[in-house]
Amino acid sequence: MIHWEAHACLPLHPEADFAPIDRLHAAGVNYVSINIGMDMNPLSQVMSVIGGFRATIAAHPDRYRLAASADDIELAAADGVLAIGFDLEGAMPMLEQPAMVALYRDLGVRQMHFAYNRNNSVAGGCHDDECGLTPLGRRMVAAVNEAGVLMDCSHTGRRASLEIMDASVQPVIFSHSNPLALVEHGRNVTDEQIRASAATGGVICVSGVSGFLGTRTPDADDVARHAAYVAELVGVEHVGIGLDISFHQDGLDDTPPGNFDATYWWPKSAGYDRAVTRMTYTPIETWRALAAALQRTGMTGDEAALVMGGNMVRVAREVWR
Ligand SMILES: [Zn+2]
Repeated sequence: MIHWEAHACLPLHPEADFAPIDRLHAAGVNYVSINIGMDMNPLSQVMSVIGGFRATIAAHPDRYRLAASADDIELAAADGVLAIGFDLEGAMPMLEQPAMVALYRDLGVRQMHFAYNRNNSVAGGCHDDECGLTPLGRRMVAAVNEAGVLMDCSHTGRRASLEIMDASVQPVIFSHSNPLALVEHGRNVTDEQIRASAATGGVICVSGVSGFLGTRTPDADDVARHAAYVAELVGVEHVGIGLDISFHQDGLDDTPPGNFDATYWWPKSAGYDRAVTRMTYTPIETWRALAAALQRTGMTGDEAALVMGGNMVRVAREVWR
């Protein structure tokens, strides 16, 4: 039974320590999607991070394996190795070139979204004026479908996400998003967005971030409560887990170079205070408690297993080629 963590953040630095990733593995995770950049990160930073992370993975074949298919993940799990893919949060590092999608795929990027909180030339972000998918964005969706990369709508604006899900010919996921019906926050997604993702065959992966879960010290039961809401709305086969734990490391500064303004990317008006430093995360060990917490909401053991990974394996089988 594969446990799939749809989004985790190491420091965006080539020398980031993978110890937290080892802890995820020890907590039962078989596949983790690691962020390699957001719209605020220049290409120089994104590329150095990909280079560094690939080198770390290659140096430890006994612990990590870059996965390109669902079969890779199952083989890695059988070998006791953690399967890893990368994700890109925003289209800006693609320099307005749809051809860059396949290049990122070849470097290990398995899922991407088009906007990080703010609007860009491809799509609208969730903390900006409403803006849909641009003509360039439509070409980008086609490129993502063609490349066999997972289209992800977390951090994307409502209208843009609905237009992406309408344009995509493959399942579209939310890798780390929670229901707005439970917690009023701009990062959370409406029932309409959840239904639209499910209609593509996609999965909504619930995050473990305090502000989006609506609790100060989130735990497995909070995550399970949000997962149960999505399951009730669109069916348990459309629910996943993307705890979005952000690991900081003393001595490694991953602030984007130049005049970086955190309050632009995480605006106070959207409920962020001092960027995301006030957010707290569920502990890594939440993974050990999830199966029981999901079953406390009334799910069967088999349904909990779908939420913890089975559903994302199904989507990966369909999308990754
Ligand atoms: Zn994110």
